[in-house]
Amino acid sequence: QARKASREPYVQFRTHHREELQRRQRIEEELRRALVSDPSQLEIHYQPIVSTESGQLVALEALLRWNHPELGSIPPTEFIPLAEQSTLIDKVGAHVLATACAEVAGTPQLRQVMLCVNASRRELTNEEFLHRLRETCAQTGMDPRSLCLEITESALAPLESGLLNLLHAIRALGISISLDDFGTGASSLSELYRLPVGILKTAKAFVDALGENPSARTILAGIVDVAHAMGVRVIAEGIETADQAATIAAVGCDLAQGYHYGRPKPLAEILTGTSVISTTRDTPDES
Ligand code: C2E
Ligand code: MG
Ligand code: MG
Ligand code: MG
Repeated sequence: QARKASREPYVQFRTHHREELQRRQRIEEELRRALVSDPSQLEIHYQPIVSTESGQLVALEALLRWNHPELGSIPPTEFIPLAEQSTLIDKVGAHVLATACAEVAGTPQLRQVMLCVNASRRELTNEEFLHRLRETCAQTGMDPRSLCLEITESALAPLESGLLNLLHAIRALGISISLDDFGTGASSLSELYRLPVGILKTAKAFVDALGENPSARTILAGIVDVAHAMGVRVIAEGIETADQAATIAAVGCDLAQGYHYGRPKPLAEILTGTSVISTTRDTPDES
């Protein structure tokens, strides 16, 4: 009896562990399959990034959504980390880049709007990454100056010289780089001067702390000041309330993103959401 009782948690643990492994394996297989033979399971949603001053739409962040016929909708917080454990993330990244560039570059109304695409460390370390960026822009008609890669600060650690050179080569193509989830990783403001980064996205944790901790506002204001002194723009992400929107505008964040302004949606829905779309003087002629 005693022996059985003591074994039980272990057995449960083993069963649980095995089920989790099986789910992970299934997800990896299914994602690989979807990319190759059923990409319609994958859809890109776009979330508005607006100017804190004018409220105008400045950029869209591409966020991948996956709806599997049997497993249902699987969040990127589950499948992206799994894909990052293998070269599968390369295929995911290439798919998102090509699809998002084609969709956005193919929409004349979005000509003045920047497209932000997330890139993982493993993608950056693929030798073909730079080539892929160049080819994708050429094939889709995406202006590299309207493309921005979001890279988390933790993805840049350690920052070997090869990686730093790649970032400079990406910049040389005209593509911008933004540091995603800034403030959660190991690097610091003092690292910023080494990086060819034009935009800093503060981690949602800063915004969440605004209501609770008075220092959060001071820290955010300090980050904005240092960033501006280096010619870097700041996006505050995860803005959910009007209070947060007012605070981040008051401390000088240039741009804002969050449910308060709009959730990630298919491009067609963004376009019918009208008001935030900046009407440009350009006519969609030479495309
Ligand atoms: P991220 O790049 O930091 O993207 C922002 C995440 O915050 C998105 O979650 C977005 O839906 C969510 N978000 C935006 N505004 C709010 C808000 O006001 N409140 C809250 N609670 N959340 C908000 P999502 O779409 O689930 O993506 C999670 C993460 O998965 C992303 O974080 C990114 O790291 C990764 N990811 C998504 N798509 C891709 C992709 O195509 N490639 C790569 N490498 N990673 C991706
Ligand atoms: Mg991002
Ligand atoms: Mg982020
Ligand atoms: Mg985030």
